[in-house]
Amino acid sequence: MLLATIGAVFYNWMRAENTVQINNSSTPTLLPQRTLTQEPLPSSAEMTPEPSYQKPADNAVIKFPVFNYHHIRPMPDVASSTITDRAFTVSPEGFEAHLKYFKDNNYQIVSVYDLLDYFDTGKPLPPEAVAISFDDGRYGQYKWAYPLLKKYGMTATFFITTDWIDKRDFMTWQQVKEMSDNGMSIGSHSLDHAAMNKVDDKQLSAELAGSKKILEERIGKKVDLLAYPGGSYNDHVIQLAKEAGYQAAFSVYKIIDQQPKFRYIIRRFHADDWLESITEKLVNY
Ligand SMILES: [Zn+2]
Repeated sequence: MLLATIGAVFYNWMRAENTVQINNSSTPTLLPQRTLTQEPLPSSAEMTPEPSYQKPADNAVIKFPVFNYHHIRPMPDVASSTITDRAFTVSPEGFEAHLKYFKDNNYQIVSVYDLLDYFDTGKPLPPEAVAISFDDGRYGQYKWAYPLLKKYGMTATFFITTDWIDKRDFMTWQQVKEMSDNGMSIGSHSLDHAAMNKVDDKQLSAELAGSKKILEERIGKKVDLLAYPGGSYNDHVIQLAKEAGYQAAFSVYKIIDQQPKFRYIIRRFHADDWLESITEKLVNY
């Protein structure tokens, strides 16, 4: 089994290496963020055969809640903030209560790449699998959420708006790379948070391909996940996202059902500060 695992990792690594687009000879080699794929292996008597799964139909439905966060920071007081400021904030205590709830109730926090593996190969997700994501690249996510994720041994995906990095109240590139190096997935949330369904093709290509390239250069790994700014997309945006090399994209919907045919519209829930904003979404799970 160990040999098979090493073989699988090496084989997939080689495959991913070969599919990275190299624009010029000085481009550094990018490692994939995704390592857990089930691809056919060269046959060998010494290898334990990998379990065979059946790839799900395009309209198959799987329940897989993905929670989405923006600001993680002490809750701003009413006098000095807007309702929107507070609605997009989860306090560090609130966030830890969410993680503790997941742990105490046997929810398994997995990578969103596990959902893509299910779509691609049928490899089942663990029971009660849940994923966590963050949008925008705000500093509080690094300062408060990242240490808590490490404390609970959990992973998450951070969707970064690249023009905002190194600005006030946002992370630095060093912090983005540190999280990537320590098991967090990094995706694109565009260059400057433009609504992708409202911009012309020239800008759309820059938002998609430009942010991807910048992120890949900064973290030294392939970036192939996208979250639409404001959740805004249309069929043309999806088409250009595919052409830019994204493997999946995320929006916001109030359901936990996911389908292979919607891998460019993966549904996420907005998480609020109170615990019920999580628990009520898991009632029928
Ligand atoms: Zn955003």
